[in-house]
Amino acid sequence: MKKLNQQIKAGTLLEDESVLITFDDGYRDNYEVVLPILERNKIKGLFFLLPKYLGKQNLWNTRAEVLLDHLTTEQARTLLDYGHTIGSHGLTHHRLTKFDDEQIRVELIESKILLEDMLQVAINCFAYPYGGTNQQVISLARQIYNYSFATDQAPVNWSDSDFAQIRREFVWPKSSVIDIEDLVVHFGTYDNNPYKGYE
Ligand SMILES: [Zn+2]
Repeated sequence: MKKLNQQIKAGTLLEDESVLITFDDGYRDNYEVVLPILERNKIKGLFFLLPKYLGKQNLWNTRAEVLLDHLTTEQARTLLDYGHTIGSHGLTHHRLTKFDDEQIRVELIESKILLEDMLQVAINCFAYPYGGTNQQVISLARQIYNYSFATDQAPVNWSDSDFAQIRREFVWPKSSVIDIEDLVVHFGTYDNNPYKGYE
């Protein structure tokens, strides 16, 4: 993310075949499993955390079949120490499209302030819970964050001007290397957000 930020600011083109890897929700496996793999492969990731749930379990997820531990604040700091980037994923992990302006602002701003206080670093990236956006949500996020990440519902071409709805593709634990290559090669052609109806 830092390299991407530098290239965008410098107006230089991204290197061919650049890929940004992001992780939502901030589970403990981001530290225990993901961090060693990224380090081994010299890749820097972008992790979207829920500040109110650091050191706690995923009680926000009423659909969860198992309780999972989130990262602790200390583990999140270690990700930063290794040069990874942290962004916000909101306060409550509710779909922002169901809120009014004031509630959306609280989700966007309070989560940023909490993370900045806890981690002592500027938080400039946001990931919309469930990828849920509309024009109201996007325009508020644009005022508060430099880069906001959607999912596969976002437009494919974002790099020219609009950093408030950066498209991402889903990768699952069952995804094979071939599946992931396919997502990269055919970036922007998939519409497989499993969370469309989630709030
Ligand atoms: Zn999430």
